[in-house]
Amino acid sequence: MATEIKKVDPGNKKPIPTDYSKLGFGLHFSDHMYLMEYERGRGWHSPRIEPYRPLNLDPAAMVLHYGQEVFEGMKAYRGKDDGVYMFRYLDNLQRLNRSCNRMVIPPIDIEQVGEGLKELVLLDQEWIPKSEGCSLYIRPNVIATDPFLGVRPSETYLFYIIAGPVGAYYPQGFNPVSIFVSDKYVRAVQGGIGEAKTAGNYAASLLAQMEAKEKGFPQVLWLDGKEHKYIEEVGTMNIFFKFGDEVVTSPLTGSILPGITRDSVIQLLRKWGIKVSERLFTIDDVIAGQKDGSLSEAFGSGTAAVISPVGSVHYQGQDYQVADGKTGEISQRLYDHLLSLQYGKGEDEFGWMTRLA
Ligand SMILES: *Cc1c(COP(=O)(O)O)cnc(C)c1O
Repeated sequence: MATEIKKVDPGNKKPIPTDYSKLGFGLHFSDHMYLMEYERGRGWHSPRIEPYRPLNLDPAAMVLHYGQEVFEGMKAYRGKDDGVYMFRYLDNLQRLNRSCNRMVIPPIDIEQVGEGLKELVLLDQEWIPKSEGCSLYIRPNVIATDPFLGVRPSETYLFYIIAGPVGAYYPQGFNPVSIFVSDKYVRAVQGGIGEAKTAGNYAASLLAQMEAKEKGFPQVLWLDGKEHKYIEEVGTMNIFFKFGDEVVTSPLTGSILPGITRDSVIQLLRKWGIKVSERLFTIDDVIAGQKDGSLSEAFGSGTAAVISPVGSVHYQGQDYQVADGKTGEISQRLYDHLLSLQYGKGEDEFGWMTRLA
């Protein structure tokens, strides 16, 4: 299926933000969007690119009532050589299909959508900021559209991709964050929907996030939903702790989002000869490591921030500083390495980068 393209009238083009220091995240959207629909019996059909516009949705559309939806998040980068680059975007589309499977949404054709995605990025490539750290954030979304209030999987869906420029995650530099460990709320449980990138997980996280913000912590660290002791992940990032010479992250137990940055970190550390383990570990292990000095570093990983160093962990009214509270050596090395790849500079040993133009 070829993608039909209907371009925005030149007179209706939106102004492209030029002050990159004020871009923020998720505030601006480019001129075009990619869409296609699904109907039972017909499959996915009518892939096209159109001018960005509001959706026309029945108020009874099932997604609005029961949250049957999935999404993705990835970026396109403007390299130093002026090339347009994407990082592991087919992995994002594969994960989208795994999320679809969990949410009983029919899978998309990865090759076809991948081509449509590239066409969208190239069409709106003027929107990719020309500044390292800034990028074009790309948000695919699938929503259930049957106008029906019974609880069952929808028989019609809308898939769309929107994109927009986002700023450097660290406007004041690459500084460690303090994270709040929630022992009151949980994000996900094994057997639930935690491993799918689906709206409900984020709705479930808002109250904890707000309470943590009120206490002065920008991020929540989630413990497992059953015993409230195993480390799971942070906000929209996976998390790593370094004890002695071993870097540890939670295994993919079913309640954790399988991050593509997480996988990249694991592959890079192995390549660099640094021991990295996916194994269960608890908040008590973190506190014990802090007390005996074996905990030397902690960082989150995700598309938005790439690597986010953790300076301290707050649990049950106590602050535990991670080592000297500064950005660790491995965090810095991973961040520098991933950025150089994404902006088309470093050697792409794993074949993660695609140059679109
Ligand atoms: C998206 C996301 C991540 C990070 O995934 P990446 O593929 O690395 O961007 C981690 N945790 C949650 C809950 C997420 O939504």
